[in-house]
Amino acid sequence: MSRNPRYDILFEPVRIGPVTAPNRFYQTPHALGTGNAMPHTRAAMREVRAEGGWGVVNTGYCSIHPSSDDAPLPYCRLWDDEDIPVHALMVDAVHRHGALAGVELWHGGSDPGNRFTRVTPMSPSGVPVHRTYPGWMGLATPRPMDLGDIRELRGWYVDAARRARSAGFDIVYVYAGMGYAPYEFLLPQRNRRTDAYGGSLANRTRLIREILEDMKEAIGETCAVAVRFSTDALLEIPSEELPSEAHEIVALLAEVPDLWDVKSADWTVETASARFGEEGAQEPWTEFVKPLTTKPVVGVGRFTSPDEMVRQVRRGVMDLIGAARPSIADPFLPRKIDEGREDEIRECIGCNICVSSYHDGVPVRCTQNPTMGEEWRRGWHPERIPPGYPATCILIVGAGPAGLECGRALGQRGFKVTLAEAREDLGGRVTIESTLPGLSTWARVRDYRIHQIQTMANVDVYRGSLLTAQDVLDFGCDHAVIATGARWTREILDAEGDPAPGFASDAVYTPDEILAGAELDGPVVIYDFDHYYMGSCLAELLRRRGHEVTIVTPANAVSAWTFMNNELVRIRERMIELGVGIVTEHRVTDFRDGTARLTSVYRGGDESSIPSESLVVVGVRARNDELFRDLTADPKRFADAGIASVRSIGDCRAPGAIVHAVHSGHECARTIEADDGVEPVAWERSRL
Ligand code: ADP
Ligand code: SF4
Repeated sequence: MSRNPRYDILFEPVRIGPVTAPNRFYQTPHALGTGNAMPHTRAAMREVRAEGGWGVVNTGYCSIHPSSDDAPLPYCRLWDDEDIPVHALMVDAVHRHGALAGVELWHGGSDPGNRFTRVTPMSPSGVPVHRTYPGWMGLATPRPMDLGDIRELRGWYVDAARRARSAGFDIVYVYAGMGYAPYEFLLPQRNRRTDAYGGSLANRTRLIREILEDMKEAIGETCAVAVRFSTDALLEIPSEELPSEAHEIVALLAEVPDLWDVKSADWTVETASARFGEEGAQEPWTEFVKPLTTKPVVGVGRFTSPDEMVRQVRRGVMDLIGAARPSIADPFLPRKIDEGREDEIRECIGCNICVSSYHDGVPVRCTQNPTMGEEWRRGWHPERIPPGYPATCILIVGAGPAGLECGRALGQRGFKVTLAEAREDLGGRVTIESTLPGLSTWARVRDYRIHQIQTMANVDVYRGSLLTAQDVLDFGCDHAVIATGARWTREILDAEGDPAPGFASDAVYTPDEILAGAELDGPVVIYDFDHYYMGSCLAELLRRRGHEVTIVTPANAVSAWTFMNNELVRIRERMIELGVGIVTEHRVTDFRDGTARLTSVYRGGDESSIPSESLVVVGVRARNDELFRDLTADPKRFADAGIASVRSIGDCRAPGAIVHAVHSGHECARTIEADDGVEPVAWERSRL
């Protein structure tokens, strides 16, 4: 198929200083979870984006000096020449596909704690940064920088830029956003200097100007020098000439960098999940830049729709369509648009599991794209998969995310696949959960896979087919895959934090029952020790239905795990906005006669009661593995039926998040012929 001419504009080359991007698809810098420690993993994760048509592929934040150390979070570094080969590996991989490679040079100022290097952090005026969340807290405070420090900092940027050029990078950034050193110089609340680097806006902008000019002089003939700039706090500061200091900074530096990459300073806003931000939600922080400069502008907004991308360019919001998450979910997004296959795009669902991987300190993983992070160590490719024997017949029971992904990937491999689903609709939990407030994009997990399966003549789908063990045996397949999911239980937590039988009351509900339409009486208590989205989503749903709702959780925050995917603050704000009651660090220890009894999780803590006609327990999920256990209780039975293997996948194997189910389904499809379902995995090792 050929490209729709409507999208031609997205494939125009864009000049960036001395280099030219082959198109407008720009993978913005984003953390990958590999740092320098996994060079092969990292190179492969970036290469796949270049292969998929992204015209520019950037690194994540890359420290220029040991005084900017974000350990234990995985960041890259270019501290000395020995760090160059790690980057060259990635650059070569990106160049193999005709894309430009960029590096985001970073000095964090007061932001990183320098926990590993133990160098005292430094910042314009040594103003301590006070954080509220443990994950971002540090005990070190920065020291104020003197003029010698500023001179040195400029020198480190130049040294790192030269190393970047040696590694082969085409675009070299100055990261002047998100609370990092050059950005701190812009902020009056962090920059209290009275010398040439403080006070007036021209003075506060001086350091960025100098760094950009130094770098241009050092490497500007062959490399583009870009600036990444955060605008939100500065948009709030009025200026005399222009609407805000953000406008004025762009006007002052307009033609100095070769490219403007603009975004919010708040990572939880920049990476707003779909629950808290629509496609294009970043526009307020970006749209004012283009009229102030002739240099190309890039912005992000979780863009997956080519029509919206075209609109962004035509409306003059940006020249290059920046993307981190859409490029993770579908590394081949540009190629698919180019080849007229935009209906095959695996759209990002905005769940932020990728963000959580970075916080976990592991290579980025993705709910939609199970191959992300597996490119090097397992050789998985997002679009290609080894063929199988077409005569081999595989029966999959259950069409949730695990079953659908397994069916799709087995179908792609060419096997003869039958997918049987008890319900009339496909998608399992994503179909049900995408009806929760803010989660409608999650249905993309289902829709992408159904669309693919519909094009495969070798995959048959049977809806409304509740299979028994005997049905599976009678069906006569070579392999059976059981993907029958999991269910929420009424179990609660005991004093040790282990699940225990729940309360004997008809007014105790599970999320499954609420999602199936159960009517309940208020006031409602939601006892949430799952700590992810379900508790707060149900609170939102029930509150919007008019119930009085209180969330009780043993954790110290509502949906405490969502610190990992950057939703924590937004969820709390949503609960406050809706008037949902919140009781943290308590367990529900009794529920009867219209009352829930709460006990502090701390020894010597308080006990209290709140009115509650209904209790929703959100904590433990149990495997729907009765069919699997029936089939495997006697291996001879299925062997006699000619079935070589019976496997469980997804939540039926071990209840988890959707990302686990999709990965499990994909892994099963790649290893279906292996006796044990295990494939060799390569590890990157430090060499002595
Ligand atoms: P996962 O996340 O592991 O894919 P889900 O719970 O989303 O799990 O999906 C499991 C699917 O399996 C559901 O759509 C459910 O209707 C279906 N299912 C469960 N038991 C059977 C069965 N015996 N026969 C056919 N389908 C089943
Ligand atoms: Fe998008 Fe979720 Fe994948 Fe991240 S993990 S890229 S948010 S689908």
